[in-house]
Amino acid sequence: MSLTLADARVVTPDGVHDGWLTIEDGRITHVGRGSAPGPGRSLGGRYVVPGFVDIHNHGGAGGSFPAGDPEQAVRIAALHARHGTTTLMASLVTASPDHLARAASALADLCEDGLLAGIHFEGPYISKARCGAHNPSLLREPSPGELLGLLKAGRGHVRMLTIAAELPGALDTIREAVANDVIAALGHSDADYGQTLAGIDAGARVATHLYNAMPPLGHRDPGPVAALLQDERVTVELVNDGVHVHPAMLRLACRAAGPGRTALVTDAMAAAGAGDGTYDLGPLKVEVAGGVARLAGGGSIAGSTLTMDAAFRRAVRELGLSLPEAAQVTSLTPARVLGLDDRLGSVTAGKQADLVVLDGDLEVAGVMKHGSWITEP
Ligand SMILES: [Zn+2]
Repeated sequence: MSLTLADARVVTPDGVHDGWLTIEDGRITHVGRGSAPGPGRSLGGRYVVPGFVDIHNHGGAGGSFPAGDPEQAVRIAALHARHGTTTLMASLVTASPDHLARAASALADLCEDGLLAGIHFEGPYISKARCGAHNPSLLREPSPGELLGLLKAGRGHVRMLTIAAELPGALDTIREAVANDVIAALGHSDADYGQTLAGIDAGARVATHLYNAMPPLGHRDPGPVAALLQDERVTVELVNDGVHVHPAMLRLACRAAGPGRTALVTDAMAAAGAGDGTYDLGPLKVEVAGGVARLAGGGSIAGSTLTMDAAFRRAVRELGLSLPEAAQVTSLTPARVLGLDDRLGSVTAGKQADLVVLDGDLEVAGVMKHGSWITEP
C-alpha cells in the first residue's frame, strides 16, 4: 500500500519546500520537490511537519497518567494524538514506591503496545524546597537500590527520571539510572551551579522544565539555569504556554541552547482538552481556571493545559522560530533525547510516517501515525 501526499509545503530540516511525499508500510519512502510524479492526494498547499514528540506529559481529556490506569492512559494518548503528538511519554508524579511500581507496571503494557513511548518518574527524589505540585510528605532520599526495584516494575519501559542533584545519594542514583538506560533529568531542584554540574558529570542529560521549580538565574549566583543552558551535553525542556515562563526567558533559553538542545514539552495535566474545573494530579487536588492549573487553594503552578500544536504555534509567533526550527524543538530534538531520532523527528525518507498536516494558521488539519491517519485532512 503506497500513498502519495501531493501539493504540500513540506517542512524539512533544511527548509520548507513545495512538494510531495510517498508513504509505504508506515514509512516515508520519498520526499520530492515540485509536482508529484504520479497521482496523489492533494494537501492543497498545507504544511507537513513531523509528528510531535512530547517527553513530559501527565494527562489530558480528564485522565491522569499518575493514576496508573490504562483506560485513562488510552484517553490521554488519543487527545494528544488529535493535537499532533505521535510519540508520548507518560509522566508520573511523586507517590509512594508501591504506587509508583503499580502505575509503572500498568503503563508498561501500553508501552509494549506502542501507544506510549515510555514512562517518566518525576520524583520522588526531588527537593522539598522546590517540590511545586508534588506532595512534600512523599518525597524520598535518592536510593539506587530502590530505583532498581521501580525500574523492574516498569519492565524496561521507564525511560526518564527527574531528580534533584543536591540530595544525598543523588549522584549514585543518577549513575544507576544511566546504567539502566534511563535518561536522568535534573529538576525540582534547589541545587547551585556547582551541584548541577556535578549532576551532569554523573550522567544527567535533560533539564526538567528549565526555570520552573529551580532557583532563578542570578548574575552572581548563576544557579542551575546557567549550568544547564551552557552545557552541550544537556537538552532543556521548556513549557511554552505563556504561563510557566515569560516569553523573553524562553527566547533567551532557545538562543543559548539552540534548537538542537531545546525540547518543548507540554507538562500537560488532566484538564488539557477538558476545560476548567477540579482535577487530581497524583495525590494532590488541582484547580484549573482560565486554562491555568494551580494547586487547590491558590498554590504553585501544577502542570499545564497545553497541547503540542499550541506550543508549536507559540514557538513561531512568540519565540520567532522558523518552521524548521519549530519542528526541531517539537519533534527532532525530543526524539534525539529518547534515542529515536534515527526513526522519528523529521519528514525524511526512511523515517516512520508520523506526520502532522497544518493549515495556513498552523492549526492541525490532519495527523498520521505509522502511515495511518488518526485524523484525515
Ligand atoms: Zn511534570
